Amino acid sequence: MTFAAFAFMWKKTIQAHSRYIAKWACQKHTTVYMKQPCKQWILHLMTKAAELKTQACAEIDARRDDIIAIGESILRNPETGFREVKTEQLVARTLNDLDLETQTGLAITGVKAKIAGDSAGPTLALIGELDSLRIPDHPFADTETGAAHACGHNAQIAGMLGAAMGLVTSNICSQLGGAIAFIAVPAEELIEVGYRMDLREQNHIEFLTGKAEFIRRGHFDDVDMALMCHTKNDDTASHVANSSNGAVIKKIRFLGKASHAGARPQAGINALNAANLAMTAIALLRETFYDEDTIRIHPIITHGGDAVSAVPAEVIVETFVRGRTLEGIVDANNKVDRAVRGAAIAIGATAEIETTAGYLPQTNNRTMSELWGQNVKHLYGEDQFYIEDHRTGSTDMGDLGHIMPVTHPYIFGATGNGHGNDYLMADKEAVYINMAKLLAMTTIDLLCDQGHQAREILAGQRPKLSKSEYLEFNRNLMKKVRYTPDEMTHE
Ligand SMILES: [Zn+2]
Repeated sequence: MTFAAFAFMWKKTIQAHSRYIAKWACQKHTTVYMKQPCKQWILHLMTKAAELKTQACAEIDARRDDIIAIGESILRNPETGFREVKTEQLVARTLNDLDLETQTGLAITGVKAKIAGDSAGPTLALIGELDSLRIPDHPFADTETGAAHACGHNAQIAGMLGAAMGLVTSNICSQLGGAIAFIAVPAEELIEVGYRMDLREQNHIEFLTGKAEFIRRGHFDDVDMALMCHTKNDDTASHVANSSNGAVIKKIRFLGKASHAGARPQAGINALNAANLAMTAIALLRETFYDEDTIRIHPIITHGGDAVSAVPAEVIVETFVRGRTLEGIVDANNKVDRAVRGAAIAIGATAEIETTAGYLPQTNNRTMSELWGQNVKHLYGEDQFYIEDHRTGSTDMGDLGHIMPVTHPYIFGATGNGHGNDYLMADKEAVYINMAKLLAMTTIDLLCDQGHQAREILAGQRPKLSKSEYLEFNRNLMKKVRYTPDEMTHE
């Protein structure tokens, strides 16, 4: 072996293990026993990432007013899932201004732009969610549609675009390995279920959430791992849960027979009574759920009858069935179907149950979460980040987490109740500017040194499902059943 070949091999070995050697060196407060050029190389790696982070944060600070203006503009123009046309345009314009080529209309709405680093390697997606909720009495609700950003997704978009400004304008991407995809995804909140089922009926979508639809359409085919951040309202700067609940979505239609509610109720069949009985039966089944499955079932009536003077002939109920594991969700879901069927039979009504995939249970990649946490501690202090075991909310990041490593941390700065009429972005520095900085810094950790850290994560986490297995699983969850008082038919 020539000296040059030996030196090259040695450099590669050091590169591959630089993180551990540097950590060991720091712990021992000692000089690593090796030749001067190698020592310099390690120091170079350690300082390079810190330098890039300083540059990215300076650029984000310089664009502070623009980033806040984006977040506040989206707050004042809320749009619910698969209708985020104005927000999509704002995202595309901002990315175009950074000289990035954008694709739009990716799943009715949705934007993607990609920038390559200086060497081949993994692609990291930084994700923001475009959609709002519908909370008509929120102070920033759209007066016509009732749409309102009561979950802070406006901050996610501002944070993702702020990170793009930090990484692209200061030319940091060209010093990283792999590639970064900036992605604005529609329809994370699973609301307006009837509207989305109509979109599916008309073949505009197959799945009811944005990320599931993005996966189906191949927009994540060239992405290897993904990172996004959500706002929260507590006192610790940031935290992340190891896992969160998944959910299936149900639309249940009870059909009875109208009749004069005063003069001849005996000639009617009361669909509302069937719905009430079903919801009572579901409530009585709660003691059969295992605590560790963290089951949550929370039905609402979206149509409760047509005229107060008539026996209700049609009642529509929507519900989620949430749980920590797929097995737990399936078990609870079967019990809900049994309760609905039994209630319909008891009242003499017909019940139609449409079940569809909602969110898969989420698992966050521990290393990605820890890298994020280190950056939080850098900005806010040692005690300002923690990892919790499980949360019972759901997100379609869980779907993505089944096919690639992801993490979905939370950042403080909001006040009020999430999904309530008082949820507001109070600390703009945190929710807009520091969210952007944390996304940019964690990107640098993952992709510096030719994407070394990202490669290690990918080598250590096998996907739970391939894309085709994921699609098959989701399709198998979709089911339409119709129960009549004296017969049972499947569609
Ligand atoms: Zn949200």
